[in-house]
Amino acid sequence: VTTSLTQLRIDRERLLSRLDALGEIGAIDGGGVCRLALTQIDGEGRDLVVSWMHDLGLRVEVDGVGNVVGTWPADRFDAPVMTGSHIDTVATGGRFDGNLGVLAGLEVLETVIRAGVETARPLAVAFFTNEEGARFAPDMLGSLVFAGGLPLEVALDTVAIDGAVLAEELDRVGYVGTLPCPARPPRAFVELHIEQGPILEAEGVTIGVVTGVQGISWHELVFSGQSNHAGTTPIDMRHDAALVAALTVVAVRRLTETTPGLVGTVGRIDLHPDLVNVVAARASITVDLRHADDDVLTEAERTILEQVGEMAAAEGVTFESSRLARFEPVTFDPAVVGLVEQVAVEHGHTARRLASGAGHDAQILARVCPAAMIFTPSVRGISHNPAEYTEPEDLEAGANVLLDVMLRLAGAGGDQSRGGDGS
Ligand SMILES: [Zn+2]
Repeated sequence: VTTSLTQLRIDRERLLSRLDALGEIGAIDGGGVCRLALTQIDGEGRDLVVSWMHDLGLRVEVDGVGNVVGTWPADRFDAPVMTGSHIDTVATGGRFDGNLGVLAGLEVLETVIRAGVETARPLAVAFFTNEEGARFAPDMLGSLVFAGGLPLEVALDTVAIDGAVLAEELDRVGYVGTLPCPARPPRAFVELHIEQGPILEAEGVTIGVVTGVQGISWHELVFSGQSNHAGTTPIDMRHDAALVAALTVVAVRRLTETTPGLVGTVGRIDLHPDLVNVVAARASITVDLRHADDDVLTEAERTILEQVGEMAAAEGVTFESSRLARFEPVTFDPAVVGLVEQVAVEHGHTARRLASGAGHDAQILARVCPAAMIFTPSVRGISHNPAEYTEPEDLEAGANVLLDVMLRLAGAGGDQSRGGDGS
C-alpha cells in the first residue's frame, strides 16, 4: 500500500451520525439501547444498516442464520479482508457495543469507495446474529455458524428465553438468506470494539491491541462439615464449612496477586442451614478463574483445588468440585496483532497490548482465518449499560486504525482475478 493510501482517513461526523441513527432504534432511557437479537426492533436496525450497505453499492448477502455480509467491489468473489461485529444488544445495552464495529467497518468501506481506491483483495463488512446471547444461547451464535462451530440446523432450532424459535424469528424479520454456512473463510478478519473495561482509560491509552481472548474456568465447590451449636461447640472441635468457603475466597484473591494476568472471583456463596447461631454444615461456592494463557489457567485451577483440599482437611470438612464451564483462551494472529500495533503507533497513538476479558465474534472467526481486534477506551469502563460511552476522538482513532490495517491486509492495486475465486 502506497504512502498516500495510508494517509486516507475516515469521516468522523459521518460515523457519529450513523451511530446516532442506529442508536435511535430501540432507544431506552439514559441513552441506551434495547435491541435483542431477531426481535422486530433488531429487524429495524438490520434494515437500516442494510440500506446503508446498498447505498454504498456493496454486494449484500445473507446466510442461513441471518448473518449479513456487504462486499466491495460488488463483483469480486475472492476471499475478502473482512471486518464487522454485531448490532444486537443486551436489554439494557449501550450504543457502542458491537454497533461501533459494524458502522466503523461501513465507514472504512465508504472512505475507500469515495477515494476511488482499488485494493488487491476485496473488502467486506459483516454483522453477525445474536452475538450477545441475551435472547438465544449460546452467545456468538451467528459467528459460530459462520465459522462451522455450530450446525445451522441446531442454531435454527434454538429456543429464546421468551419461548420463540430462532428460525421463525429469522423468517419474521426477513433475514433467511441463501449464502451457505459455514461460509468460505475470509482472507483475514479485524474487529473494532469498545474495551468494555477500565484499563485503557486508566492508563490514558487510545488504542488497545488485543492479543487474544482470555480463557474461562468455572467450578462449583461444595463443602460438607457438621452443623452444631454456635455457643457450646469449642472452636477446635468444629467442622465449619463456612470457614473453608471463606478461606477459599481469600485463597483465590491471593492467587491472583501472585499470578500476573489472572483474575479470580467467588461470586456465589450458599450456606446451610444459614442461621445466625449454627455452625454451617454445608457451603457451596463458585470459583471463576480467567487467564489468557491456558497453561497458567490450568495451573491456577490445580493450585486452588489443592489449597482447598488442604484447608478442608485441616478443618475436618470434605469437599466435592464440579466443573461448570471451561473455554480455552484464543490467541489472535501474531502478524495481524503486530500490524494493529504498528499502525496505531504510526498514527501517533498510545497503544497497549491486552487480552479481552469478554467474548467477541473475532474469537470465533479466528478459528478459520487470521484475526485480531482493536479496542477503544470505555469511559469509566462501563458497558452493557445505557451509560456506556466512548469519546468521539477515540472512536475516530479506532476507525482510522481499522481503515489502515484493512488497507494493508488487502494490499494495493486491483487484482486481475476479478470474479474468480482467487483464494
Ligand atoms: Zn460486543
